[in-house]
Amino acid sequence: MEIKEMAPISLDNWIKEKIGFNTERISLQDIKEYQLKKIRQTIDYVCQNSTFYRKRLEGYSGQSLNRLDDLAKLPFTYPQDLRSNALQMLCVSQSDIERVVTLDSSGTTGEPKRLYFTADDQGLTVDFFMQGMSLLTSPGERVLILLPCERPGGIGDLLFKALVRLGAEPIKHGPVTGLSDALQKLSETRASVLVGIPIQVLALAKYWQLKESTIPLNLKRMVLSTDYVSQAVIQEIKRIWGSEVFRYYGMTEMGLGGGIECRHHQGYHLYMGDFVFEIVDPLTGDVLPPGQYGEVVFTTLTRRGMPLVRYRTGDISRFLPGNCPCGSVLPRLDNIKARKTGMVKLTEDSFITIAQLDEILLAVPGVIDFTAVVSNLPGKPTLEIELIMLDRNIDQWQVINELCQTEPIGRAYLKGALKLNLKATYYSEKTVLQTGKRTIKVLTS
Ligand SMILES: [Zn+2]
Repeated sequence: MEIKEMAPISLDNWIKEKIGFNTERISLQDIKEYQLKKIRQTIDYVCQNSTFYRKRLEGYSGQSLNRLDDLAKLPFTYPQDLRSNALQMLCVSQSDIERVVTLDSSGTTGEPKRLYFTADDQGLTVDFFMQGMSLLTSPGERVLILLPCERPGGIGDLLFKALVRLGAEPIKHGPVTGLSDALQKLSETRASVLVGIPIQVLALAKYWQLKESTIPLNLKRMVLSTDYVSQAVIQEIKRIWGSEVFRYYGMTEMGLGGGIECRHHQGYHLYMGDFVFEIVDPLTGDVLPPGQYGEVVFTTLTRRGMPLVRYRTGDISRFLPGNCPCGSVLPRLDNIKARKTGMVKLTEDSFITIAQLDEILLAVPGVIDFTAVVSNLPGKPTLEIELIMLDRNIDQWQVINELCQTEPIGRAYLKGALKLNLKATYYSEKTVLQTGKRTIKVLTS
């Protein structure tokens, strides 16, 4: 089934409908005018209804903003605020809350982040999913959902609702627990689209190739979300299955909206009807111009339960300059380069990210996942990597060699400033595949 080439414009049409704009084409200027109006309303709304924002935004009101750029004058909201002040951030009574999401603590403070959503907010998420999926799914197509599906109002459940509304045929599965079972399901259902967790879908593709490539599949396109998607993951999936991979940008704090790639795969088209995005200097907080890398900051425009003003995501990216070949007027965010908290100190003068390790290790045939630990205990710093492999024929020296080709690891290792330990475990049906955001663990004394 072919997707109409003009599909990306549908995101522009969606925003047009949201704004109630009735001319033929919408311009970026029109969208920005709408955003200014909505942001003023949001500031007034949070100051009136949330004790947290009344204090945080003291001295400001919607009137303080004459232009969209004036947003830069307002203070930020930090992940820490979601840990310590979540209830004070609410703009509705607790009885109006339909869903509470608790996000794992990062391990530094112990307190988890809490997010509250009303029924309307949940409806927005369905809307976000619908718009995103419409770029790659036609009515009647079967879509296998490899995200958590068991909780009503959870990610898989809302995606299911969105796909039903699109006229597709969604099938709930849940995260992959056994590779063989999930492959069987993908084959039996003849799903042409899947939505899944990047590392798990990669494992599925590699497993199919090495162990069960006779199983017939009808897979054509997929959306990978919930964690960083490395280039190695996309390339491997394309190489093995030939299917088209769409990256989706969203986090719980955004109500799982944010942006999606169009068929040109040149950055995420941002959901400008519901969010204002900014890129700021991670250290000074100054707003950066398009093209420069910095931290992604967003303000919600349509949330009722717990709107967020200038929320610091910790994601490092940039706005892509120029226009997308698809013709959409929506600005694009580049792929997430790193997470602010994901930069791990290797030695005195070098840092690494899980993204860098992904690009090397996930490209190795037979490697389906890995864990990485940097140990800064007294003595020489050590980078310990445990590969999860499907194949016993991997040359571990070759892997070490590949690791040493990367700038920070190679330099430190060759100088004798870093110890490198490589271990391997082989996949069995008992292996638990990771589902959360993958990180490098750090051991300190
Ligand atoms: Zn585009």
